[in-house]
Formats: sequence, C-alpha cells, structure tokens
Amino acid sequence: MIKMMDGKLEYKTHLFEGDSVYIYVKSSENQADCPHCGKESKKVHLIYERKIQDLPIQGKKVLIFLERKNYFCYNAECRHRTFAERFDFFEPKARKTKRLQAEILRVSLNQSSVSAAKYLSASVANVGKSTICNLLKKGR
Ligand SMILES: [Zn+2]
Repeated sequence: MIKMMDGKLEYKTHLFEGDSVYIYVKSSENQADCPHCGKESKKVHLIYERKIQDLPIQGKKVLIFLERKNYFCYNAECRHRTFAERFDFFEPKARKTKRLQAEILRVSLNQSSVSAAKYLSASVANVGKSTICNLLKKGR
C-alpha cells in the first residue's frame, strides 16, 4: 500500500493512537538528485522526521511519519548546499499529501470553510479553517 504512494517508500511500522493510525516510513534510496541543479548526491547531511497527514484508512485518520533525508550538494556552481529528498505524494513544503489536499478542496467547494473544517476534522483529517482558506487561495 505504501509503495503505491511512492515506489521509493519503505514501510517501517505502524501504531494505533485514538482515532488515528500512525504509519512510519522511510525512503529506500541512499542517493538523490539535487532539485536545484540535478546533480546526484550520496552524502547525507541529516535525517529528520516529517509528519504528513493523509486520507483515512478504514475510518482511521492517517498520519505518516516520514524519515526524510537531507543531502549535501557538492556542485560548486549550485547555490544550495543542502537539499531535502523529494517525493511524488506531497509537495516539498506541504504537511499533507496531494490526495488529501484534493479531498479538502473538494469538500470545501460548496460549503463555508468553518463547516468544511468541522466535517473534515470529524471524519477525514484534523484540518483547520485557515488551512482550507490557504488551499482555496492556492487552487484558484
Ligand atoms: Zn545542487
């Protein structure tokens, strides 16, 4: 299931917490291309945990704990010294998967952001009104 989101993903473990399931994943790759200059790097700068919300599974809200690598870029002509791994299922700076963002937009289209936030937080993912407003602005 995790592989369907991104072929690079490797499942580590999961646990149930209240109305949510936490899924722990990491990339199976030990190298990445710098998104700024395209040069490949194998030198890991640091590894950190990124929390990303996703669509629910069997009524449970999903929170993905991604072990994300930061690499050094050694290209002297590149303006960036480090870069974070990229994945297909979420935008580099987002804290929600693309498919969750799409669902939030769909739900918010025909109702106020307050009632959309209420509905989403009850059954899909913990989403605030301001998140919805930001997504709607971006989607326009
Ligand atoms: Zn670079």
